[in-house]
Amino acid sequence: MRRFAYCKVVLATSLVWVMLDMFILLYFSECNKCDDKRERGLPGRDVLRPREGPGEGGKPVVISKENQEKMKEMFKINQFNLMASEMIAFNRTLPDVRLEGCKNKLYPDDLPRTSVVIVFHNEAWSTLLRTVRSVIDRSPKSLLEEVVLVDDASERDFLKRPLEQYVRRMEVPVRVVRMEQRSGLIRARLKGASLSTGQVITFLDAHCECTIGWLEPLLARIKLDRKTVVCPIIDVISDDTFEYMAGSDMTYGGFNWKLNFRWYPVPQREMDRRKGDRTLPVRTPTMAGGLFSIDRDYFKEIGTYDAGMDIWGGENLEISFRIWQCGGTLEIVTCSHVGHVFRKATPYTFPGGTGQIINKNNRRLAEVWMDQFKNFFYIISPGVTKVDYGDITSRSSLRQKLQCKPFSWYLENVYPDSQIPRHYYSLGEVFSYTANKEIRTDDLCLDVSKLSGPVMMLKCHHLKGNQLWEYDPMKLTLIHVNSNQCLDKASEEDSQVPSVRDCTHTRSQQWLLRNVTLPEIF
Ligand code: UDP
Ligand code: MN
Repeated sequence: MRRFAYCKVVLATSLVWVMLDMFILLYFSECNKCDDKRERGLPGRDVLRPREGPGEGGKPVVISKENQEKMKEMFKINQFNLMASEMIAFNRTLPDVRLEGCKNKLYPDDLPRTSVVIVFHNEAWSTLLRTVRSVIDRSPKSLLEEVVLVDDASERDFLKRPLEQYVRRMEVPVRVVRMEQRSGLIRARLKGASLSTGQVITFLDAHCECTIGWLEPLLARIKLDRKTVVCPIIDVISDDTFEYMAGSDMTYGGFNWKLNFRWYPVPQREMDRRKGDRTLPVRTPTMAGGLFSIDRDYFKEIGTYDAGMDIWGGENLEISFRIWQCGGTLEIVTCSHVGHVFRKATPYTFPGGTGQIINKNNRRLAEVWMDQFKNFFYIISPGVTKVDYGDITSRSSLRQKLQCKPFSWYLENVYPDSQIPRHYYSLGEVFSYTANKEIRTDDLCLDVSKLSGPVMMLKCHHLKGNQLWEYDPMKLTLIHVNSNQCLDKASEEDSQVPSVRDCTHTRSQQWLLRNVTLPEIF
C-alpha cells in the first residue's frame, strides 16, 4: 500500500519518470543479491523477468537418467535430494502462495526487530545457505536484527571456516557460534537465544525457505500481545525434487497418545471464532517445533526450553503445553508462509539410541505437564516407564512458580478435539472407556457393524452409532448399544477376535474395568 502512495505522487509529474525510477530501483536493489551469482551462475534480477534455472519458481528439479545413481548415493548424506538442492540457486524465486486477503494487509511501521536463530548439525551447504539467503532477501532490513547460526558440533569441514568466511559478506550480521559438544537442537537453540539481541527470537530449521511477506504478520501478532507465540504455515519443500508446495491453512497441530505431533483439520469452533476469515491466525494446540517467533523476554519468563532434553523430540509439545497452561497463546499465522524440507528419515545419529532419547524427552514433558493424563502415553508405549528421565524438579517448580493451569484445563479449553479424552472412566491395559462411551485407543474406537459380528478398531467418528458401548459396573458387561449385544471374548476353540453375542452373562462376557468411577463423572 505504501508503494501505491509513492506512485501516485510521482505519477503527477510524469509516467515515464516513474517507469525509469522503478527500473533503476529494482535493478540496484536486486543487485544486492548478486553475490550468489558466482556460485550459481544465475542472474539476480528475478523481479524484472521470471528467471530460468533448476527449481526456479519453486518448480521441481528433474535429475537426468545418467545421474540417477549418483543422486541416490548423495540422498543418503542428508536424507534429501542433495543433488537437486545443489542445482538450485540460493536465491531462487518462489511463488506467492498466500491467500489473496493476505497480500494487501497493512502492518504497523514500528514492529519489533527479530533475531533469526538457526541451529544445525551436519546440514548441507546449499540448504543452509538458501535458508539464510531467503531470510535476508525476504525480510524488511529494518526488522531483521541478525542471523545467528548455531553449529551443534557438526563434523563437516565446509561448515567451519568456509561458512564463517562466506557469511561475512552478507548484508545483515550473520554470526556463527559453536557448541563444544553435540548437544541436540534444544540446548543449541538455548545457546543461540542467549546470544541473540533482537526483541523477538525467530527459530528456523536449517533447511527452510522464507516466502514474500513471511515476517511482518508474525511480528505484528507479537507486537499486539507479547505473550503470543506464532508459527508460520509450514509449506512443503519436497525431499525428492525440492518442489515448493503450499501448506494448508486448514490444518493445525495436535498429538496422539504416543505424543507424536500430528496435523489435524482446523475444527469448526476455530473457524467460527474467526468468523470464517481464513486470513486470521489460527489458535493451535501444539506447534510442529522447528519454526516459530517469540518475544525474547517472554521466552525467558515462561522458562525457555527444558535443557534436560537431549538431541531431538518432545520439546515442541513441551513448549506448546507450557505456553497454553501458563497463560500464553499459540497461533499459526496463516498469512506467513515458510517452506521446510520434510524428511522421511533422520540423517544423523542419536547418541544413546533414538528411542531412548525421545522417550526420555517425552517422559519429562509428560511428568511435568500432563498430570494423570500421562497414563495414556504410558499405556500405549510399552517399556517407556523404565526409561530414566532424570531430574525434573526445576521444571516442576517452574510450573508452580508460574501457577500454570492443569492439563485437564488445556484439554477442555484448548484442545477439546484431542485424541486424549478429557473424561474417561477407565484406563486399562490396552483401551480406555471414555465419557463418550467409546472403547478407545488413541484415535481408534471399538466398532461393530453387524449382528454377532466381529469387533474392529476403526477411526473414532464420535457419532456414537456402532461405537457406543454401555458399561454395567455391576454385571461387568459391555453392551453394544446398537445391537443390544454383549462384548464377548474370543473363546479358545474358535480363536477368533472378540465379537458381540447375545448377552448370556457368562464369564466370557465379563470385563473388569479398573478405576471405573462412574458416579463421580455423572
Ligand atoms: N539439529 C541439531 N542438533 C541435533 C539434531 C538436530 O542442531 O542433534 C538441528 C537440525 O540440523 C535442524 C533442526 O535441529 O536444523 C531440526 O532437526 P530436523 O530437521 O532433523 O528435525 P525435523 O524437521 O525432521 O523435525
Ligand atoms: Mn527440519
